[in-house]
Amino acid sequence: MAKLQPVRGTHDLIGDDARAHLAIAETARDVAERYGFGPMATPIFEFTDVFQRTLGDTSDIVTKEMYTFDDKGGDSLTLRPEGTAGIARAFISEGLQNELPLKCFYHGPMFRHERPQKGRQRQFHQFGVELIGVAEPAADVEVIAMAADVLDALGILSETKLELNTLGDAQSKEQYRGALVAYFTGVADQLSEESKDRLGRNPLRILDSKDRGDRALVADAPIFDDYMTDEAAAFFAAVQDGLDTVGVAYTRNPHIVRGLDYYSHTAFEFTTEALGAQGTVLAGGRYDGLIETMGGPHTPGVGWGAGIERLAMMAGAPPAAARAITLIGLGDAGEKEALRLSRELRLAGLTVELVYKGGLKRGLKRADRIHAAAAVLIGDDELAKAAVTVRNFDSGEQTDVAITDLKDHLAAYR
Ligand code: ATP
Ligand code: MG
Repeated sequence: MAKLQPVRGTHDLIGDDARAHLAIAETARDVAERYGFGPMATPIFEFTDVFQRTLGDTSDIVTKEMYTFDDKGGDSLTLRPEGTAGIARAFISEGLQNELPLKCFYHGPMFRHERPQKGRQRQFHQFGVELIGVAEPAADVEVIAMAADVLDALGILSETKLELNTLGDAQSKEQYRGALVAYFTGVADQLSEESKDRLGRNPLRILDSKDRGDRALVADAPIFDDYMTDEAAAFFAAVQDGLDTVGVAYTRNPHIVRGLDYYSHTAFEFTTEALGAQGTVLAGGRYDGLIETMGGPHTPGVGWGAGIERLAMMAGAPPAAARAITLIGLGDAGEKEALRLSRELRLAGLTVELVYKGGLKRGLKRADRIHAAAAVLIGDDELAKAAVTVRNFDSGEQTDVAITDLKDHLAAYR
């Protein structure tokens, strides 16, 4: 038999951890709905091509991190490493072209085979949004503002910093790429092995390198702004202007290039010092070429994804669940009446914990452990009078209540 352990890099979510995940997704959903975004869920696996073709043959995800396998029918499938490619696939295969702009949010597990460490898992969860079909910079402004609002709703905005960059349009990218190749070729012998490899395939990625030696070289590398077309510069200026208009603060970071090939124009990350090495909590950008790359009509898009585990580490304890009323039946008739009342009170909107067995002492112990607000004691003596005893744990007060009045009496606990 296989070892009874979770697979390396995966985690069970138990108790408050599970509650925190749900609370974060719900909070983010509230914000997204206020922006007029609706839910969308795509499968957690797709044909490998969906990711291979869109994320780029040189991206870290495609070269090293994908969970790819052949299924029993011989198809190559991949567990999704991120959310955008699947949504773009659905946009094309479900014929959503007539529903533009498409504004959706999603959340769920993502899978990447990387070295597990704090804030980095092999199965992790993302909440993300996509705004498809709008080429105007107002779309970039809106999704970035939404990201800030989600972080604010979670109480962590002030611990993060918005870092903004532009990758320009295709022409800007091409010109810049040429300049980078010329520069890095001159210092190639000082580059890390990985970056030497990137130089031939995707020199932009060197700017993103975490290697110390590379970083020193990157500091003197050509600057993108010198190679930007006027159109790309105007677009970026409009995004910055829009962020000023809605009051979202940012700093420019020319080294944000994003790990995936499909980005153009806006690229951004919300980063924090609070999580050590894994400092990016939310990241996104504009992907005007993606849907065309997949074989769909040219359709612009912009969006972001946030790591729920990283958000959870920052957001702390989730809001407590509603305090329960415990129902303690004493004796056969009491237990039966407790069972009947449990359903009636729950249908009336109360949170009810039924004590299944074991008498008064065990019932009160359970009530104490779950920090119940009150107990309803249902014993033979009370039942004879068609009444129960309600004990309020905060005041210590004990009241006899007719069963017919119980719902009204407990309404205060809702
Ligand atoms: P990193 O630089 O940390 O590897 P990334 O650029 O690969 O991040 P994205 O693909 O932009 O990350 O994913 C968006 C967000 O998803 C990240 O900002 C992070 O919060 C989260 N994330 C990505 N990979 C992981 C992982 N392996 N474990 C936990 N969270 C992750
Ligand atoms: Mg990564």
